[in-house]
Amino acid sequence: MDAVEAARELSGRSAEDCLRWTQRQFGSKAAFASSFGAEDMVILDMLSKIPLEGGARIRVISLDTGRLFQETYDLMQEARDKYGIPIEIIFPDHAEVEQLVARGGPNLFYDSVENRKACCGVRKVHPLNRALTGAEAWVVGLRRDQSAERSEVSRIAPDDSHGGIWKISPLADWTWDDVMRYVRENHVPINRLHAKGFPSIGCAPCTRAVPPGADPRSGRWWWELGAKECGLHVHETAGVATNPLPTSK
Ligand code: SF4
Repeated sequence: MDAVEAARELSGRSAEDCLRWTQRQFGSKAAFASSFGAEDMVILDMLSKIPLEGGARIRVISLDTGRLFQETYDLMQEARDKYGIPIEIIFPDHAEVEQLVARGGPNLFYDSVENRKACCGVRKVHPLNRALTGAEAWVVGLRRDQSAERSEVSRIAPDDSHGGIWKISPLADWTWDDVMRYVRENHVPINRLHAKGFPSIGCAPCTRAVPPGADPRSGRWWWELGAKECGLHVHETAGVATNPLPTSK
């Protein structure tokens, strides 16, 4: 199955169906990367309700950059206790962090875009690459209306930045209101910072609250102009077939 067929397979399906399909197709060869934002909590809640039917569950992974908000750690603990699903917390390589901090100091990301990208590389991109080694698909909570950069997000597309594995976005066509409706109706715990003006939550030194109606990602790396991505989500190659889809797990 190529990307066009895969897209057709998931077209018109609900987010829950999309996750059920992913679990059937890939099992533990798929990894859901959660940063514990509201979208990710919706996906975690949905995953917890999908029967395993003898198969292996989609892995749940999360990157601990070492610079997260306490509120995020609190939610991580709450999610672990509520859902009982193993959550793999992935840490950066300590030697890489030590070199980075020795070179630029603990707050080097404020000094230049180059330094900020270096920090995101060491604390996010490299650990994610390590966590996805051997995976055939990863699931993310991206939505098209989060930002201009994400307006082309597909339900499923090959991800060339991770060796052509499938990148699956069950909530691609959801709005923020859809997310909040699911949260309310299903009693999903979310980060307390959302209620304090943080629609998008990343590392503490690089995220701030935004006024109502502002670009949801404008609070990320607010001192920089331009794109608001850290390198985890580079532009996808929607519709390009680069990876055969396994017909069974
Ligand atoms: S968001 Fe900030 S602290 Fe976090 S990895 Fe990127 S530059 Fe470093």
